[in-house]
Amino acid sequence: MSAPFKLAPLPYDPSALEPVISARTLSFHYGKHHQTYVDTLNKLVAGTPYADMTLEKIVAATAKAAAPADKKIFNNAAQIWNHDFYWHSLSPVKTAPTGKLASAIARDFGSTAELIARLAEAGKDQFGSGWAWLVSKGGTLAVEKTGNAATPMSEGTNCLLTIDVWEHAYYLYYQNARPKYLEAVLEQLLNWNTAAANLEKESQPVRSALA
Ligand code: MN
Repeated sequence: MSAPFKLAPLPYDPSALEPVISARTLSFHYGKHHQTYVDTLNKLVAGTPYADMTLEKIVAATAKAAAPADKKIFNNAAQIWNHDFYWHSLSPVKTAPTGKLASAIARDFGSTAELIARLAEAGKDQFGSGWAWLVSKGGTLAVEKTGNAATPMSEGTNCLLTIDVWEHAYYLYYQNARPKYLEAVLEQLLNWNTAAANLEKESQPVRSALA
């Protein structure tokens, strides 16, 4: 995908995640916030070398940029990628870790409950806007948090799941109660099939979003 970038389809109906994430929250989040990042990036890259690059390459190329114009491009490009990844990190149907993913969770966290507790802690501890992540580094799972648009993907880290902790992700329904939003999403909506598929990609010869 290169410019003009398009808003990728939501993988479910905006009401599919109710009651954990309300249709109103999801409609604004996807239809307004996510759409605006796409529209803004298209304006920013027009006539620049970034217009010929994929979204992933733009994110990697601008992640450490110092120039304000490049920082703006990073923020919008990374937010497009992060949101696409977030939609696919959630599932209207309850899933559970299985197979290789389940073994890796047991090995690196002891249990799925402990991993969920660590993700909740990362989401709560992220001061201000940002993201909580489950990532895999050379097959070892880890929990990370990033601020604003920052994403482990920019450094080639294999992301397995993410949870958006920007206020716009929960404020319409949960108001200031970020922990309640986190608890509900982590217990009920995480798409462990996405995590398993992303972990599987890592063991293939050609890997990563940067390839
Ligand atoms: Mn968001």
